[in-house]
Amino acid sequence: MTDQETPKCSHCGSEMKKWGVPADSTWGTEFFWVCFNDDCTYFKRGWDHMWKTQEVKASYRNSVHPTSGTQSPLPCWSYDALKDRIIED
Ligand SMILES: [Zn+2]
Repeated sequence: MTDQETPKCSHCGSEMKKWGVPADSTWGTEFFWVCFNDDCTYFKRGWDHMWKTQEVKASYRNSVHPTSGTQSPLPCWSYDALKDRIIED
């Protein structure tokens, strides 16, 4: 999978990063492509949206399943959350 092209976030155009999936997950993949741009419109809008609808201080980052290409929101409770699982090539 190393020759795979890095996808770009459909919301901000940044290159996405590999994010290692927790071992006990049932997602059927070892990693997701995740946009870790803190200025991503998707991530920035998420804070307001979550506060208005759920009254929680949280947001989500845009993620893409590497084999199916399905986009889904990855819940995120702070700017630094999830970053410890980024896989740098
Ligand atoms: Zn983005």
